[in-house]
Amino acid sequence: MNTESIPIPDLMKDLPMWKGLPIPYFTLIVDGVPDFTAVEFMRVNQCMMNETCGICGKPITDGKFCFIGGELSVKNRVYIDPASHVACAYYAAKACPYLAGTKRQYAKEGRAEKAEDIHILMSMKDQPRPKRMAIYIAKSYEMFFENGGYLCKAGLAWKIDWDAMPVSQVLR
Ligand SMILES: [Zn+2]
Repeated sequence: MNTESIPIPDLMKDLPMWKGLPIPYFTLIVDGVPDFTAVEFMRVNQCMMNETCGICGKPITDGKFCFIGGELSVKNRVYIDPASHVACAYYAAKACPYLAGTKRQYAKEGRAEKAEDIHILMSMKDQPRPKRMAIYIAKSYEMFFENGGYLCKAGLAWKIDWDAMPVSQVLR
């Protein structure tokens, strides 16, 4: 699927763009180039603390906190990324170069080394993409500190959507 043809949710319309895709609020940008495999930890922590969406950067006010992750995350309800809006999560699941698996090469060639040079930690580096990913929606979450970083512990699932990503992507 051509990711540029997926409609961008209103919440994300004022995000900066890169090659036709909006750059999520928490994505690391190095020398003007976004690294979709890396996050800006200051923004991640800020989002977790304030219940703002990691993708569009705006407050989550509808009480639906979405998390994207694989089976382990669903089982443990633990996520390294901040929560996001329903619309933002579904957009990211379809269009994010890392999550959607449409631009794996780009994801693999992330600018991790550069990022480490400037002491910004990575979240996705060296982590294999889970075979199956779901959008997990909870009515609440808590942030906690472990192994040098903040994580989210999602509340009990309000909804778990294993079909958020097209099958062709899941099978890769
Ligand atoms: Zn959002």
